[in-house]
Amino acid sequence: MVIDKIEVFVSCPGRNFVTVKVTTSDGTYGLGDATVNGREMAVVSYLEEHVVPCLIGRDAHAIEDIWQYLYKGVYWRKGPINMAAVASIDMALWDIKGKVAGLPVYQLLGGKSRNAVTLYAHANGKSIEQTLDNAAQHVNNGFKAIRLQSAVPGLKVTYGVLGDKKDYYEQQGNRPLPPEEDWSTPKYFAMIEELFIAARKRLGNDIHLLHDVHSRLTPIESAKLGKLLEPYNLMFLEDASMAENQENYKLIRHHTTTPLAIGETYNTIWDCKDLIQNQLIDFIRVAATHAGGITALRRITDFASIYNVKLAPHGAPDLSPVCMAAHMHLNIWAPNFGIQEFVGFGNDELKQLFKHDYKVVDGMAHVSEAPGLGIEFDEEAAKAFPYKRSYLPVCRLEDGTVWNW
Ligand SMILES: [Mg+2]
Repeated sequence: MVIDKIEVFVSCPGRNFVTVKVTTSDGTYGLGDATVNGREMAVVSYLEEHVVPCLIGRDAHAIEDIWQYLYKGVYWRKGPINMAAVASIDMALWDIKGKVAGLPVYQLLGGKSRNAVTLYAHANGKSIEQTLDNAAQHVNNGFKAIRLQSAVPGLKVTYGVLGDKKDYYEQQGNRPLPPEEDWSTPKYFAMIEELFIAARKRLGNDIHLLHDVHSRLTPIESAKLGKLLEPYNLMFLEDASMAENQENYKLIRHHTTTPLAIGETYNTIWDCKDLIQNQLIDFIRVAATHAGGITALRRITDFASIYNVKLAPHGAPDLSPVCMAAHMHLNIWAPNFGIQEFVGFGNDELKQLFKHDYKVVDGMAHVSEAPGLGIEFDEEAAKAFPYKRSYLPVCRLEDGTVWNW
């Protein structure tokens, strides 16, 4: 059974998604997600010009060999564009292997380690009260873990707080250039403890609370925040500071027992090796699409397990349902699974394009028992939603300095 055809589809049912379909000589096909938000067409070109021609005629069962061929064989290793391309092929090949075996992918990884996958929902609002109203709705719907984000008074826009805007970040106002947002660390510190004081009062102590700093703080500021929030017992503080320099987290770790999570932009195990083996983090938040697919996430997860670091995959809505399906199989298998970020099943357009049958009941995902990944992509329906150039925002400090978005 050899690879016969590889097609790349770009569609925009609210956000852009790059979907890869690998078809074998016996007609079996598999799907992969290659979406890099704001750089979608770079991955398309990379796949079509440089990856697809090298794979036609290769053994579709040789997942590890093809992964190594695309990683080591390229000389220019790592990087988000390269690794998203590798990831999409890898996911599609796991999908194919599962279909041929007649088994869901999690069975090929080693079977279930739990009954269902714990999810955390997003609550946000223009005020603390609105954020907690939103959180209370999630609790009523059965969620036991909730990420809280509230608008910072005095800033024009706050990440993670979308208000009543219909589209996600990059489509707002339908402008094909990056929107700009502002940031002030003092204004953030003036609000953030109040959010968690009010949250514990309103939601009690049985709900897991999480918070995403979106890399806005320096390491010493993150250390201060971690200490400040210790009384409110967070499940984790996400992306407190950038860790391009992985040493940054030694400083944060030295000062606080608030659990730390990072990894949604990471492309390989090398981006998180020091963080994991020095036990500087508690949760690794890699995404199958951006860190090299199921093969690579399995390797990172096993490596993390010996250092008591848990898998908590990224789950933002710019990861396509194909990536989320891959995560569900990894999550149900991983002995050191922590939690999965979950923002719902998307808008009606997205649901027209992607069909899957994993179910969410009381804040837990029940994984598909269909052979392969358990996901379908409607190529015909996708034609009605062509690519729209768009970007994530750029962030600036109040004096105009470019900062981490
Ligand atoms: Mg995040």
